[in-house]
Parts: sequence; structure tokens; C-alpha cells
Amino acid sequence: MLSYEHARNKVIEEVGKRRGPRATAGVSVWDALGLVLTQEVKTDREYPPFDRSTRDGYAVRSSDAAPGAQLKCVGEIKAGDTVREALTGGTCLQIMTGAAVPAGAEAVVMIEQTSREGDLVRFERAAQRGQNIVPRGSEAAAGQTILTPGMRLGYAELALAAQVGAVNLQCAKRPRVAILSTGDEVVLIDETPGEFQIRNSNSVSLAAQVRMAGGEPAVLGNAADRIEDLGEKIERGLKEDVLVLSGGVSMGKYDLVESALKAMGAEFFFDAVAIRPGKPAVFGMCKGKPVFGLPGNPVSTMVTFELFVAPAIDLLSGAEARALPLLGARLAEAVKEKTGLTHFLPARVEWCGAVAEVKALKWQGSGDIAALSKANCFLVVPSDREKIEIGEGVSVLLRKDIV
Ligand code: AMP
Ligand code: MG
Repeated sequence: MLSYEHARNKVIEEVGKRRGPRATAGVSVWDALGLVLTQEVKTDREYPPFDRSTRDGYAVRSSDAAPGAQLKCVGEIKAGDTVREALTGGTCLQIMTGAAVPAGAEAVVMIEQTSREGDLVRFERAAQRGQNIVPRGSEAAAGQTILTPGMRLGYAELALAAQVGAVNLQCAKRPRVAILSTGDEVVLIDETPGEFQIRNSNSVSLAAQVRMAGGEPAVLGNAADRIEDLGEKIERGLKEDVLVLSGGVSMGKYDLVESALKAMGAEFFFDAVAIRPGKPAVFGMCKGKPVFGLPGNPVSTMVTFELFVAPAIDLLSGAEARALPLLGARLAEAVKEKTGLTHFLPARVEWCGAVAEVKALKWQGSGDIAALSKANCFLVVPSDREKIEIGEGVSVLLRKDIV
């Protein structure tokens, strides 16, 4: 059985091999958050466009600002002011953050390190050449490429595009992800379930996870545990870029997802992963489309989506697969689990001064959505560890939707 790392790499390898060019669209910077860029963005001029002061203070020749020296202040420069005249030696100019440093000035001395009486400014210490000045062109040259195809647009990237006047950006269209739940016990979320039925919560969590991952969900509803119904709905799902099924991949008599896919010519790369929850997860290609069969227990569905489906959506969005949001933490309470599987336990991680501490939450297993709603991460228990003691270092997988 594959480890989750191997299984994830398999997804990245197989989906990576088959990804073609993405359809693109021009999107306003106001609407492009989370999209993947398909064009280069270049600067329209140098950045900063002038020698820029990073402090409120006085522009000086560095040799003039010796400790105890007094210089006459002969004017002021506000941010946005046009600056054409050079600084004359033996004088200083008051200058504001973001203003252009005049020719002849070699340093800006913070106002806090000066005292002033009338026009006379007294300096407390020596000024270093270049201090508090960002030289023209030091962040980027004119015409330099600052954003490249494949980059995901977060708030910094959007601001960078806006800074250089790129107000409309060519981005990859979001991959469409078909979501199909299965199970005779499953009813629509706005129906009243019978005594032994359950509502289709997986379609809701999967749609949310697809959006988080950068895809566009196409919710296909629920298929009964019958080959014909499954086949018909899978056929529909294969019209989208990716198909994600929930349920029907375990060993039960009515777990028919794999058989239905096989009958349609699917090739499988794994049909079990050494994890809990989520062991029966299936990944294959069917009619040229990546297909994931995720176990139906809600927490299993959620964990296996994050581990295996999210990187496929990254790749089909025109980006590289993002690393899992793992970090190190100190265990606040000992845990004990069966070896042989990597466990992902709903847990809470908190900052305690300089370290993160993590504690697993009480839960009733992979159906317990209520426990997960109290968790901000999964505590990762490696497959070779039966017991981990309090104080030991562990990995946590952050729930990136809420942290
Ligand atoms: P399965 O993987 O098909 O054996 O499903 C395991 C369990 O997950 C079922 O017994 C249900 O309790 C639950 N389940 C299956 N499908 C869904 C769904 N769409 N929404 C919520 N829970 C589900
Ligand atoms: Mg089922």
C-alpha cells in the first residue's frame, strides 16, 4: 500500500503528464484573487522611479551631518513633490516618507535623531551614505518581468500588477470539477432524511474544498449504489476536467465505484493508501480525465481531498502543485495509534510563546464532522509510531480554509 506522500506524488506525476494548455481569459485585478497568471507582467518604468526617502527627516550630504553639526534647513519636500533642484552643501532639506531625494543628498536622517530651533537643525550622530534612501531602479528595472505565467495571484502579486498599471490580467480559467456522491442512504440536503438516511453533506464540503483549491465545482448530485446509475452519472462527470466521487470505494458488497469506472475503461494508479482516515481512496484516469474515488465518511472525504485532489486542481489551473501546509509543533498530550497507517487526527494547534503546541481532539472517527469543526489542523501520526509522548515534536497539517 502506498504512503500518502507516494500517492500524492503519483497524482502530481500522472496529472502533470497530461495537462495541456489552459483556456485563458482577461480578468480585472479586482477579480483575479487566487487565479493563475498565464502572461508575463513587465514594469512600465524603474521601481522606485526616483531615489525614495523611507523616513520623515532631513536630506543631507552625509559628510555634513557629523555628531553635533548644525545645518540650515532651506525648504521641504513632500511625497509627490516635483524635485528638480539639487541640495547645496552645508544645508539640509526637510523630507517626508515617499518623497524624492534631491540630487546632492546622500542620506536621510530620521527626524527622531535631530532637534530643531527655527531654521537650524542639529544632528546627533554621523549619517551613513545611502541611509534611509531606496535608490531609483533598485527594486526593478524598466521593462523587467516581475510576474510570470504559472504564478498564483495573491494580494501581493495583485498589488504588484496594479503598481505597474497592469489592470487586466490574462489568467487560466478555473478547472471544472464534477462532484458526484454515491449511496442509497444519501438524500439531498434540503430533503428530510428518513430514519436511516443521511443528508448529502459531502457534496457541500467538496464544493467548498474545490473552490478553496481554485476549481469551479459542478455538483452532479447522488448516484444510487447500482452500476447503471453510477455509470450514467460518471459519464456526465467525465465531461468536466476532473471527476471526484464520494463513497462506494470500500470493501462492501455495494461499493461499486471502482467496478463502474473499470467498466468504462479507467486505469487506476492506486486504490488504497496507508492512511486513516481515508484508506480506500482511489485515483485513476478515465477517458483522459483524472478521477478520484474518495471514501464516503465525511472526514475521510475531506482529508483525502486535501492530500490528493487539491494538487491535481493546482496542476490543471496552470500552476505547480502547492506543498501541503505542514508545520512543526510540540505535542501537548500523548497520543497512541495503531502502526502501519499514517493517522490524521483532528487537533488544535495554538501558539505558546515561541512554539506551537498541538493537542488531538476527542472524536468518534471519520464520521465526526462536529469534532472537525472544532479543529484547526490535523495532527499527523507517522505510520511507524505507536505512541508519541508529551513534549515530542510532531507535524501538523493546517486546515488552510480557517487558519
Ligand atoms: P461509503 O464510503 O460509501 O462506505 O460510506 C461510508 C459512510 O459515509 C456512509 O455510511 C455514510 O454514513 C457516510 N456518507 C457517504 N456518503 C455521504 C455523503 N454524500 N454525505 C455525508 N455522508 C456520507
Ligand atoms: Mg456507500
